[in-house]
Amino acid sequence: MVFPFKSIEDFKVEINSEHELFRKSVREFLEKNVEPRWKEIEDTNEIPKEIFKEMGEQGFFGIGIPEEYEGQGGGQLMTTILMEEIARIVPSLAVAVGVNHLFTVPILKFGDEHLKKKYIPPIARGEAQGAHASTEPSGGSDVAGIQSRAVKENDHYIINARKVFISGAEKADYFVVPVRTSDPMQNKRWWGITAFAVEKDWPGVKLGQHFKVIGMRGEQPYEVIFDNVKVPAENMIGKENEGFKIIVSTYDFTRIGIAAQAVGIAQAAFEKALNYSLQRELFGKQIINFEMITEKIAHMYTKLEAARLLTYWAASLADAERSEFIIAASLAKSFASDAAEWISREAVQIHGGYGVDQEMGLERYLRDSIITTIYEGTNEIQRLTIARELVRQAFGLKI
Ligand SMILES: Cc1cc2nc3c(=O)[nH]c(=O)nc-3n(C[C@H](O)[C@H](O)[C@H](O)COP(=O)(O)OP(=O)(O)OC[C@H]3O[C@@H](n4cnc5c(N)ncnc54)[C@H](O)[C@@H]3O)c2cc1C
Repeated sequence: MVFPFKSIEDFKVEINSEHELFRKSVREFLEKNVEPRWKEIEDTNEIPKEIFKEMGEQGFFGIGIPEEYEGQGGGQLMTTILMEEIARIVPSLAVAVGVNHLFTVPILKFGDEHLKKKYIPPIARGEAQGAHASTEPSGGSDVAGIQSRAVKENDHYIINARKVFISGAEKADYFVVPVRTSDPMQNKRWWGITAFAVEKDWPGVKLGQHFKVIGMRGEQPYEVIFDNVKVPAENMIGKENEGFKIIVSTYDFTRIGIAAQAVGIAQAAFEKALNYSLQRELFGKQIINFEMITEKIAHMYTKLEAARLLTYWAASLADAERSEFIIAASLAKSFASDAAEWISREAVQIHGGYGVDQEMGLERYLRDSIITTIYEGTNEIQRLTIARELVRQAFGLKI
């Protein structure tokens, strides 16, 4: 049984030689230009500006953006490969790239030509950065519960909003900001939210608290305050009061990128654990020969490849414009992020004391992976989506 898919052909992963060529070139660039600086990024909690400049020159910020908006083209699968390879070296750099997608995806999918022409090309060229300011102190999981407001005045809106945990806020030039323009309707809590594109240097946009989170050093989130910010009505993304659908549809795509981040983290932790288990000798033999370590390595590798396949499959379904990609994206994000956390933990254990020594550069994967289980829809929320979609598709019922 392949339910809820119609045929086993739906399980195709559409990788081709172009993807592999791209993967190789991204890896080569990252190993040469970024890997030597991982420690500096951990210690300073900052990604050097030159790295962004060099990545812009490579065209990495244009991946997934159509050529007509000065991007490199390439679909979800290409974006997935990019995110995985970056996260394998410095996961927080993948966050910096991912927040651009959180800005470009809603504009490309729902915005009008004016917004696309104005905001997408500078991002594709690597000359500007976007961010996504949705989460509010009252709760990130409940997007329909957004309380911040925008009020219409002639040809513009006045936005008052407080958003928390906003990644990339310091570097961002533009934000996507969902706010309430109307009260919710009875039985339609999601109604009344509208998304806007807001420029950082407009009067009233301010950075607040800098959160110090467990991992992703180099790209830690900020509170962003929008204090009476005047936003032209033409900066509305899609239709008024229908911003909820725009925001949650954006996450359907971008959470495949989070799954890819998790696969990259898991890959890095696994490679290091495998190498160490071959190098470290105890009781006269390499530790990989101890059955308990052998079993760990086999189990880690199984989870890693399962996570990768789910992620590539979700991306393939998205590229094929199949609506089933939504459930696949939730399967991939929840499984891959849990796997990354588990694999990183086992990698630490295999390294013994060196595993928890920060100089080794291994325990950072455990800290980083925990974050992938939380943002862009916690794994609890993913499991809700999975169960709801299954029951809806199988029995036409709502749970
Ligand atoms: C490092 C980092 C970067 C982030 N970057 C961004 C960003 O760039 N932009 C942005 O807008 N947001 C960002 N976020 C916010 C992130 O998306 C939210 O933290 C996340 O959606 C969860 O929201 P919350 O923290 O308010 O937790 P809550 O929504 O309060 O959830 C608390 C707990 O309840 C569980 N829960 C909630 N609802 C249910 C339910 N119905 N059933 C079962 N369990 C449930 C959750 O899974 C969680 O375990 C970032 C967060 C972090 C940590």
